[in-house]
Amino acid sequence: MAGTDRSKESRTGGPAVVLVQPQLGENIGMVARAMMNCGLGELRLVAPRDGWPNPAAEAPASGARAVLKAARVYETLCEALADCHFSYATTARPRGIIKEVFTPKGTAADLRRRIGEGQKTALVFGAERTGLEAEDVALCDVIVNVPLNPAFSSLNLAQAVLILGYEWYQSGDETPEAYLQTGESPPADKGEVSAFFERLEDELDSVNFFWPDHKRPSMVRNLRSLFNRLEPTQQDIRTLHGVVSALIMARKKRGPRK
Ligand code: SAH
Repeated sequence: MAGTDRSKESRTGGPAVVLVQPQLGENIGMVARAMMNCGLGELRLVAPRDGWPNPAAEAPASGARAVLKAARVYETLCEALADCHFSYATTARPRGIIKEVFTPKGTAADLRRRIGEGQKTALVFGAERTGLEAEDVALCDVIVNVPLNPAFSSLNLAQAVLILGYEWYQSGDETPEAYLQTGESPPADKGEVSAFFERLEDELDSVNFFWPDHKRPSMVRNLRSLFNRLEPTQQDIRTLHGVVSALIMARKKRGPRK
């Protein structure tokens, strides 16, 4: 399926996620999980408080241990960003530094454009307690703020990563906003729906359902419209044929109504 291919593609092509002085191993594990959910694979850790590797990260990473395994450790943010062309400092509080501020959606669009041009990009996240220092923000090109309740806008680290990752993934995902899940059975085409409807119409005619005569056209139209808006699967149409057949059989057995 195309969706699966896209996730593989973005796994190698997305931004790096840089955590500056993360404190809890558990949070690093949850970040790895959120990253893998969103097709991101490149985790960079700047001076993690409890050292690295950290066994506390393993269980919360769930199936995303590959992301932890591939994580690289740096002493400073400057070193972690050395091979990047463009970096985004995520912060709950823009701190009065003069820089352009992006929303997560705007960030995703900007990432797509830059990555498309071959730039190496990084999303930078701060420590749980203190967030990014002004010096860290100064090393980045732009700021990303998730607009939330101004009185309570600070996200948990992994949730912040998930929101950015989610927008990144969505910006490359073509899943329609709503679609009919038809399981194994493909949707019936209009020809199959019409063939069923014509059979139903014949059978209803044979029991004088369309009565009085002058109402026949509108009754037929309404019924036809009903079946056409059902978006039936081929299996649904077979079931409906089965229902009609069963009614015919029952009538034959019973004999004509008096
Ligand atoms: N106590 C810190 C917040 C730390 S939350 C402070 O007040 O700054 C951990 C990290 O998650 C932040 O450094 C930032 O990278 C990210 N984050 C949390 N909330 C965010 C928001 N609303 N917008 C953007 N990033 C956010």
